[in-house]
Amino acid sequence: MGRRSDPVVPVGAAVNVFSNVPFPTFEELTLRRPTRLWIAFACAVVCGSIGTATFLLRPDSTTYTTRLTSLMRLSVPRVPCLVEPLAPIVDAEAAAFENGIGGIAPGVDTADLTSGTARALARFEHVVTTAGGTLTITSAYRPPAYQQHLQAVWDKWMNELRDNHEQQCEELRTRVGREFAHHRLLETQRPVNVSDHTRGLAFDAAVVLPKPARPRARLLSLDKLARLCSLRRPDVLHDPVHFRLASARRGRSV
Ligand SMILES: [Zn+2]
Repeated sequence: MGRRSDPVVPVGAAVNVFSNVPFPTFEELTLRRPTRLWIAFACAVVCGSIGTATFLLRPDSTTYTTRLTSLMRLSVPRVPCLVEPLAPIVDAEAAAFENGIGGIAPGVDTADLTSGTARALARFEHVVTTAGGTLTITSAYRPPAYQQHLQAVWDKWMNELRDNHEQQCEELRTRVGREFAHHRLLETQRPVNVSDHTRGLAFDAAVVLPKPARPRARLLSLDKLARLCSLRRPDVLHDPVHFRLASARRGRSV
């Protein structure tokens, strides 16, 4: 075996004094070794990106705050009001009642009461005014479709909106609340499907009698006058404005 020959050292090249091996030249590090160069370049790009991101997203940076706000906006989308609006009235007769039959107040139809109820009402008006009081009828005969609308308004308000204070439901809550008041509905009395009103056997009236000598005498006096006219109030506690023909068969009121 022959001895391994020593590397040829170019004239003027730097030499490792311990191994007598020349240091790589610049050309060897760059042109002749492109892989190392690319690795170094990639490291520089990654480190630069990390440095830039760290600078921009530092807690006291405006960009940091802006980007965090954007992220929060993305993560919490605006939720619409999940309560469905009231269904529109499609029945022509019910729509006429809803629009007050030409007036501002809800429609009052005494012409379609039964003949017995109409006579009782006329007598009651005469008796009340003769006694020095006033009587204002707020509802009489109601078409079934209109009665269903009243029930829908009551359900929407009592079950879904009265205690709903979500900001996105505020507009609908205001609208239905106004309609509830417009129809003079009572929270204690849910309108039923078939009532004394849809059968023409009842009317609602606000009656004011002269101030009595004793506080409890007014209720007794009002019902006494009603009985004189073949009328009665079936549920004074929950529906004090409801007067029904006394001879009518017992059924649902409101
Ligand atoms: Zn009623």
